[in-house]
Amino acid sequence: MSTTSKDSAAETRGAPDARRSTMKAVAVRPGQPNSIHLRDVPMPSLHDVPGERGVLVRVLRVGVDGTDKEINAAEYGKAPPGDDYLILGHESFGVVEAVAPGVTELVPGDCVVATVRRPGSSPYDAIGLQDMTTDDTYFERGINLRHGFLAEYYADSAGYLVKVPTVLRSVGVLMEPVSVAEKAIGQAFEIQRRLRVWQPRRALVLGTGTLGLLASMILRLRGLEVLAMGKTPRPYLNADLLEEIRVGYQSTQDVSIAQASRTHGPFDLIIEGTGYSPLAFEAMDSLAKNGVLVLLSVTGGDRHIEIPADRINQGFVLGNKVLVGSVNASRADYMTGVSDLAQTELAYPHWLDKLLTHRVKGLENYRALMDTLISGKDTIKVYCEVAEQ
Ligand code: BGC
Ligand code: ZN
Repeated sequence: MSTTSKDSAAETRGAPDARRSTMKAVAVRPGQPNSIHLRDVPMPSLHDVPGERGVLVRVLRVGVDGTDKEINAAEYGKAPPGDDYLILGHESFGVVEAVAPGVTELVPGDCVVATVRRPGSSPYDAIGLQDMTTDDTYFERGINLRHGFLAEYYADSAGYLVKVPTVLRSVGVLMEPVSVAEKAIGQAFEIQRRLRVWQPRRALVLGTGTLGLLASMILRLRGLEVLAMGKTPRPYLNADLLEEIRVGYQSTQDVSIAQASRTHGPFDLIIEGTGYSPLAFEAMDSLAKNGVLVLLSVTGGDRHIEIPADRINQGFVLGNKVLVGSVNASRADYMTGVSDLAQTELAYPHWLDKLLTHRVKGLENYRALMDTLISGKDTIKVYCEVAEQ
């Protein structure tokens, strides 16, 4: 398969190696537990992308998270039609290698992050809000029905790529989780436009993994007082990192959400991202009047619990409270993410670097990547350094 021979070479900028027909990628066989492996796959090409809008990206780093863990455990994820494997990786960071003639917004050498979800057929997809799709089937690179980025290269349409300033290149791999946090917080603010004068003061972030830390950081940039809660008691690196940005931390082993709410709440905004669904209902009880609770945990299990239904329901009715779910992110959320990452670098120099706790070098070390993700100690962000910057 040739990458450039059909182009008029004068218009296609950049010079992908036309002689290469395959590249290395880390993939799984969906449905088969622990099937992570390295394989040769066809080299992507600008011609894979319609409308002369193709961009070929050389991958530098790819982050992994709980979703990758579930995909490798065969609990989630599907291969693209016609393939029996799925290339993993949805948290990308790379550098533009070549662009097709219709691409005016990117040039070779630009650093980019790819959005994850691709449009289906609902009206939301048609206006670029596929993160809000009402389709039953959704297409997500590295997750569902589309190959991901854990490979030497990928090709995609310029419209799905977001340029990241080179000064942010050491932390650019955090962009995808940042976008998820931006959407969650953006939704809450959007909902509260109904109040004309909403002045959110206190926020509670449940969960102190990458997503919780990034959400806390964004809420601090927005001027809120933030309390984060997680399972782990101090001494805890994540609690120290939160302290650096003046976010409080309480372990749920020491206090309940209700107790924390009595001392630090009630909370105008709560973000739930622990992966433990009962907390969603506990959080409902600690939400201030006019407050918004955003649920982010993709809980695949079948847990049942008993809740004080009347009390929670009445509190919501009498307090005009809002409960909203949020998944994925739109291009606009990525754009906000870029500017918030830049602001964070200025306000808290090197804080973001400290989130990148575990680097695994080389696609061939996919096994170490998965082991670190599953059982690494003190992990915040685990990522693969696919190629040197
Ligand atoms: C990803 C999102 C995705 C979600 C559901 C998360 O891990 O970061 O982009 O929408 O999984 O598949
Ligand atoms: Zn993810």
